[in-house]
Amino acid sequence: MNIPVAIPFLGREEEEAAVRAIRSGWVTQGPLVKEFEDRFAEYVGAKYAVATTSCTTALHAALAVSGIGPGDEVIVPSLSFIATANAVVHCGAKPVFVDIDAETCNMDPRQLEGVISKKTKAIMPVHQMGLPAELDAIKAITDKHGLLLIEDAACAIGSAYKGIRIGGHGNTACFSFHPRKIITTGEGGMITTDDADLAARLRRFRHHGMSVSDMERHKANKVIIEQYPEIGYNYRMTDIQAAIGIEQMKKLDVIVEKRRSIAAYYDKQLSTIPGIRLLRVPDHIYHNYQSYWIEVLESSPVSRDQLMARFLEKGISARRGIMAIHREQCYSAYAFSLPVTERITKHTMLLALYPSLSQEELEYVTRCMRELLAPDQEGASA
Ligand SMILES: *Cc1c(COP(=O)(O)O)cnc(C)c1O
Repeated sequence: MNIPVAIPFLGREEEEAAVRAIRSGWVTQGPLVKEFEDRFAEYVGAKYAVATTSCTTALHAALAVSGIGPGDEVIVPSLSFIATANAVVHCGAKPVFVDIDAETCNMDPRQLEGVISKKTKAIMPVHQMGLPAELDAIKAITDKHGLLLIEDAACAIGSAYKGIRIGGHGNTACFSFHPRKIITTGEGGMITTDDADLAARLRRFRHHGMSVSDMERHKANKVIIEQYPEIGYNYRMTDIQAAIGIEQMKKLDVIVEKRRSIAAYYDKQLSTIPGIRLLRVPDHIYHNYQSYWIEVLESSPVSRDQLMARFLEKGISARRGIMAIHREQCYSAYAFSLPVTERITKHTMLLALYPSLSQEELEYVTRCMRELLAPDQEGASA
């Protein structure tokens, strides 16, 4: 067996769409990016969607255009991919880390008021591994203190909080199309918002700060002299990527369904194994299972690192759970203790989960888990 942690779900449809885009003669940001944005906005229930080159650049653009800069603080969870905090630093602002709730691995709303200062401008929850953070509780705090709420929704396309999809909650939300996420365009990102002015400024920001788009200039029947009212960046997605993204959108519901059914199988099989703890998904949440994690408890006969090593020997790739940003060298200036984050990052691991994972492979993974953690249960169920 050779089971990776993730495989993107790409097929002939994406291949042919990319070829069509290349043959069309328009390869940079153009009509297909517009179509991808429209489909995305409609799917999540947002008024506007603005495509970018990645979720990292989406976060940077969203923060910068919202006016966040030097001297400002943005509250983020430390248990996240490093890009969450980096995007704040890219704006010249300071990330302030908060601890998480061990049940969901998401920002703990009860910790927020303790770290709000005069410099705080925004709270940036992460929907970790696709599981929506407690948006209502966080929104109550941003409303009370007059702060912005910008969601790092890198992994959360297709997930819903209280029946509304992530991206459709009226906040600014940033998504990723890296191959490790739910749908992919190779690299790519998307920002959703209901604010027309913010969307317009984001479109300019990603296009060198230019007052007109390439498409507008191309279609114009008179000479247009562009203007540059502010400094921008080149964060444009290509039409080749958007062509792939449009095909991925058509498959999104199938992908999420499949991921959920694999997660349900893991839940059922692993719940009887001692020494590990599984995620408990709150009733008001619809989870896309971008990742499936387990916590290896102190009572387990093998440690998390030993378990990952044994898995590798058996041909199953294993990844540690999510990192703790504040423990990395480049954030050593922010060193302080976040006990739940530190426990979770040390004791969790991710299991293989992707739509093309076969039943045979799935059974093999759970059988290995039982063999390593509960040898007396072997053959009990399969
Ligand atoms: C993957 C990820 C990012 C970065 O996304 P890119 O598209 O690779 O820039 C940011 N935040 C979180 C939580 C992620 O999981």
